Amino acid sequence: MSSVDQPSGLGTSGLGTSGLGTSGSGASGSGAASALNTSTRSLLCPLRLNGKRGIIFGVANHRSIAWACAERLMECGAEVILAVLDERSEKRARSLLAEREEESEHAVYQCDLRVEDELLSLIDTVKRNQGKIDFVIHSVAFAHLEDLKQPISQCRQRGFLDAMEVSAFSLLSIVNACRELWSESASVVTMSYIGAEIAIPSYGVMGPIKAALEAEVRYLAAEVGERGVRVNAVSAGPLKTLAASAVPGFRKQLKESGDFTPLKRRVNHREVADTVCFLCSQMSSGITGEVIHVDAGQHAVRMQ
Ligand code: NAD
Repeated sequence: MSSVDQPSGLGTSGLGTSGLGTSGSGASGSGAASALNTSTRSLLCPLRLNGKRGIIFGVANHRSIAWACAERLMECGAEVILAVLDERSEKRARSLLAEREEESEHAVYQCDLRVEDELLSLIDTVKRNQGKIDFVIHSVAFAHLEDLKQPISQCRQRGFLDAMEVSAFSLLSIVNACRELWSESASVVTMSYIGAEIAIPSYGVMGPIKAALEAEVRYLAAEVGERGVRVNAVSAGPLKTLAASAVPGFRKQLKESGDFTPLKRRVNHREVADTVCFLCSQMSSGITGEVIHVDAGQHAVRMQ
């Protein structure tokens, strides 16, 4: 898969200068927090996730929302298992863990979600090596660039299906594959975008796919709830990531989007990761089938 094809987190969103809102903490593994050891970082975290373990899909680099989630979850004391697309992502993930001096504490495995056997093999490995899991973060999306550039009615059938397979169907596959691994109160979180709810022309084919993903959240919540498993989505505001950066026109959108939110700014990676962390904790034990917007209120107002 080329880096152009990788895209689409299509978080439609994209760029911006820092993409990291006011705090500037961003998704980077560097900075003050990285200089602290694990136990010190854990003390600084308002949520305690010690003893919790989970799989995070979607770390491509230091800007990935998945990496921001991984950092926050590790700071809260959780053990993370990073499931990454390919060898290049694996190298990056290992070096990000190494920067934090945590490479020996958290596993990294490759898993292309288009290949059923790779997912089954990953889950089997986790079952043997790690055991039960308390959370899964699904922070994965894909669309071919050519399908994003087209008016949606001209999206190729193959392109639509490819995007749907990776970006939405994979959540169903993961929940099914994990059915023997859930702990008593496990939590699944996926990443969505406001383009699921309203038409954002530049988001193209990803809009209907995110709408399907959000519907999956509700249906999965209904299916696995009696086992104590919760399923939710975080609908994030635009963030500068690899996937988002590939979307045509995204830089402009990102630059302008902060002006029109109630908070008069964009969100940052850390704010999105904080909400994911909350959804993985018992602090959110009554929440399932929900889509929580972490977008500085963008969803609630009409852009001027
Ligand atoms: P990203 O490029 O860092 O993450 C996308 C990930 O999907 C990458 O790690 C990539 O390797 C992975 N992926 C693609 N195809 C795969 C496959 N076949 N198997 C396994 N993994 C595969 O970008 P991101 O912005 O962090 O995207 C993460 C999620 O957040 C996506 O669902 C995206 O739609 C969503 N989101 C992003 C934004 C934004 O502005 N960046 C906003 C809202 C929602």
